[in-house]
Amino acid sequence: MNPTELYRTWVEVSFDALRGNLAWIRQRVGRRVKIMAVVKADAYGHGLPQIAGALMQGGVDIFGVANPHESLGVRAVGGGWPILLLSASLPAEVEAIVRNNIMPTLGSLDEARWFQREAARQKKTVPVHVKVDTGMGRLGFWHEDAVAPIRRIAAMKHLRLQGIYTHFPSAEDDVEFSTEQVAKFRALLRRLRRRVPLRHADNSAALLNVRGKAAQLGPLFNVVRPGLLMYGIVPPGLPRVPQIQPTLSFKSRVSFLKRITAGRSISYGRTYTADRPMRVAVVAAGYGDGYSRDLSNRAEVLIRGRRCRVLGRVTMDQTIVDVSDPALRGLRVGEEVVLLGRQGGDEITVTELAERARTIPWEMLTAITKRVPRVYIGATSA
Ligand SMILES: *Cc1c(COP(=O)(O)O)cnc(C)c1O
Repeated sequence: MNPTELYRTWVEVSFDALRGNLAWIRQRVGRRVKIMAVVKADAYGHGLPQIAGALMQGGVDIFGVANPHESLGVRAVGGGWPILLLSASLPAEVEAIVRNNIMPTLGSLDEARWFQREAARQKKTVPVHVKVDTGMGRLGFWHEDAVAPIRRIAAMKHLRLQGIYTHFPSAEDDVEFSTEQVAKFRALLRRLRRRVPLRHADNSAALLNVRGKAAQLGPLFNVVRPGLLMYGIVPPGLPRVPQIQPTLSFKSRVSFLKRITAGRSISYGRTYTADRPMRVAVVAAGYGDGYSRDLSNRAEVLIRGRRCRVLGRVTMDQTIVDVSDPALRGLRVGEEVVLLGRQGGDEITVTELAERARTIPWEMLTAITKRVPRVYIGATSA
């Protein structure tokens, strides 16, 4: 029996799609550029161990994570891959980061000193990446002031300056600003007059929209940091790439069917009232699964390949949809409902659903909760 028959709400992850997306990124950036797979937030909701395992077989070079706990999750799957902590480190975390050979991101001299001191204590040399702020306004040294502190970091005996990087806040819709950021980064490297082995900036949007437009990005940046694109989603606003396929589908089942007469209201707060006799289905998923309450009265699901509107408020465990469509006359309890993904000839994309929930694909994916089992489909290697 297919294991999903016993699930009422589940996620399916396609290793084939993941492998295809990675292959497309590899082909786009070329052999000489390293791919840092961003697997923070449980690999964007896909499940960290499974995705990290598949990516190791798929030939990524480095992993990017958001906290030490996630880095240990990658380590537990396979040794040998460098792991970069993309966020700032807390003082209490420094000991474990050094002990587990995780590369920290340094954005202040304070952080550098904590790592220098701890590395000396553990008799180690810690490879570090320095973050430079060229316009994100988040982590890192401001690019104008970065030369002196970077030189001091490079001179610390127990640190090895392995990488330097920056981040784009608007790569999907502001190529001009992004190109200026690249120029600032390039100017900083020139003033630094020292070769840093790894230099990176590209997130998914930059990989698609900035690389190739800002001249000579290749030699300047020899690492890319894709997240969303690897999971098969082109950042909103950018043109479709046919080879990029979503890795995640979100599915549930019809748990109850009933008829509603005109004038009856549906769900909490009575935000929907039937204006005609209707047939409705209760779907066994709600905001407790990560199907956002913001989708109330706004989203559609697929049943037998037909679009069915969400009626009234999404509740914690259940969502009511309109199945009055004559094509759904034979619908039975237990049938599959697609919240995200393909069914029949139609597809509900993460981008579409995110838009209806007035959010972004990144949040939509990471909002799918722990209650939802992840089922993996296909082989992890070709
Ligand atoms: C999350 C993250 C990425 C990946 O971003 P996507 O838009 O998902 O490709 C890259 N770099 C940094 C620093 C990040 O925090």
